[in-house]
Amino acid sequence: MFCPNCGSEVSEKAVVCVKCGVALKPNSPTAGQVMPKTWLTESILVTLFCCLPFGIAGIVNAANVSSRFNAGDLNGANMASQQAGKWTKVSFWVGLSAIILYFVFVVFIFGVGSLAALANW
Ligand SMILES: [Zn+2]
Repeated sequence: MFCPNCGSEVSEKAVVCVKCGVALKPNSPTAGQVMPKTWLTESILVTLFCCLPFGIAGIVNAANVSSRFNAGDLNGANMASQQAGKWTKVSFWVGLSAIILYFVFVVFIFGVGSLAALANW
């Protein structure tokens, strides 16, 4: 269909025109609703600081939250929000575990090193 305001082509399910922002379906299921948490910032942060693959999954779902919400699909947006949150948390904990394991490993190496030094002394 086409936007009655600016005439640009918009999706059949679109609630708001992407070009001019005019509301297309005031009675849409998402009208007046608050968009679920997108996790976009969090998933970008964990992608940068922790692990790329899980973070990407978070970003993809985070993008789905807003696109589904804007398409009037509140259930889809909620599901995408849950998925985004899940992957963001997974990558956060995996990244944190990797950092902890790294420190344990370093401490262990230093510990063995100093024990060996003591034994030789
Ligand atoms: Zn428009």
